Amino acid sequence: MSPTRRELEAWDDAHVWHPFTPHSVYREEDPLLVVRGEGNHLIDPEGNRYLDAVSSLWCNLFGHRHPTLNAAIAAQLDEIAHATFLGNATAPAITLARRLVEVTPDPLTRVFYSDSGSTAVEVALKIALQYWQQCEGGARRKRFLTMANAYHGDTVGAVSLGGMDLFHARYAPLLFDTLKAPCPDTYRRPEGETEEAFHARCIAETTALIRTHGDELAGVFLEPCVQGAAGMITQPPGFLRAVAAAAKEAGTLLILDEVATGFGRSGETLFACQQQGVDPDILCMAKGLTGGYLPLAATLATEPIFEAFLGPPVEGRTFFHGHTYTGNPLASAAALATLDIFEEERILEKLPAVTEHFAERVESLRDCPGVGDVRRWGLMAGIEIVADKASRRSYPAEERRAQRVCRVARDHGVFLRPLGDTLVLVPPLSIQPEEIECIRAALAAALQQVCGDSS
Ligand SMILES: *Cc1c(COP(=O)(O)O)cnc(C)c1O
Repeated sequence: MSPTRRELEAWDDAHVWHPFTPHSVYREEDPLLVVRGEGNHLIDPEGNRYLDAVSSLWCNLFGHRHPTLNAAIAAQLDEIAHATFLGNATAPAITLARRLVEVTPDPLTRVFYSDSGSTAVEVALKIALQYWQQCEGGARRKRFLTMANAYHGDTVGAVSLGGMDLFHARYAPLLFDTLKAPCPDTYRRPEGETEEAFHARCIAETTALIRTHGDELAGVFLEPCVQGAAGMITQPPGFLRAVAAAAKEAGTLLILDEVATGFGRSGETLFACQQQGVDPDILCMAKGLTGGYLPLAATLATEPIFEAFLGPPVEGRTFFHGHTYTGNPLASAAALATLDIFEEERILEKLPAVTEHFAERVESLRDCPGVGDVRRWGLMAGIEIVADKASRRSYPAEERRAQRVCRVARDHGVFLRPLGDTLVLVPPLSIQPEEIECIRAALAAALQQVCGDSS
């Protein structure tokens, strides 16, 4: 017999250490216990259904238990679950590499697998550093430029690249130094500066940093178009293109972290760089890669980068990196099925209409109590709540207002997870118009209840 809710909660409290979770308030904040999924919904032990408005942390694309994905994983299970990819090969991971090269910008020709967004970033970091050491005259390129408030994952290299003090400050003794460009947070721009002037200044300061330090930079790391974990901070129009041009001019590598922005989140193209017409030298992907089913990540690189790693084995140019489960066949089969679904169900063709409706309904929340800012790029949105709209004053952190808004929204059938005081909406690409309406209504009711006292 399967354990009861009561037993599971007791064992959870006794034995589990949850990720990014303050345990002193874990139980009182009433976590959702998920036992099943169906389409865009999560289901608890009592059979209550909750719309998965964050796509199970931004990775689910087509809903839960999609028949194509389930069948692909089951079929692969009948072949083999896992065999090593170290100096060795398995069929699904090879086929997937070919498909990924087909669907990404032309200069990217090589696929290195790992298991999460963080590891995809670690791989990019180490490839870039080693690449320059193995290039004529490249040895002085050792630094990386990243954005303030960036989030590239939670492993130590990715944390060094990141800039979110709440997540990162503790680990300072372990971290290496990076150059930080200012985060283009339009809502928090200096008093009296227009949006246009602020945007122009962000672009100018970032490109100037790249120019000034151009010949010591191993790479420029960027979450293109939107800094997700920073609170869905959207970049000014033309930002990515300007940074890409500056990186090219400086002769350094442009490394795009599309862990969050990839797989249709732009609402138009598979990757954000394609929407912006930018070709990165290295591209990191994870979250949506398996449709939100299994842990898999990929770091794609250009042929010249790959070639710098060639040479007689004794020369030590090999990329000494890889994990036990690198190139896992089950995860690769899920990723292949994900790409099949994009084609068979013509997902990208349908996305602009979904995105337009989503944009309009999210924007309509701007007048709700407590809403300071509404930020959106494609099918990713952040709603920042504040105690005072006029002065943009934040709520005291200990009030955990956004967390409370999300908890109330759950009573209206919508599951959300905030980032600080920002309510986050990253629905599955398969979200239906009436489900978008359900999210809007749940949030409007929750904001009224939790932020009705804000001014
Ligand atoms: C989520 C995220 C990561 C980390 O991915 P994990 O799979 O959680 O390790 C890295 N970069 C960006 C932009 C992300 O959103």
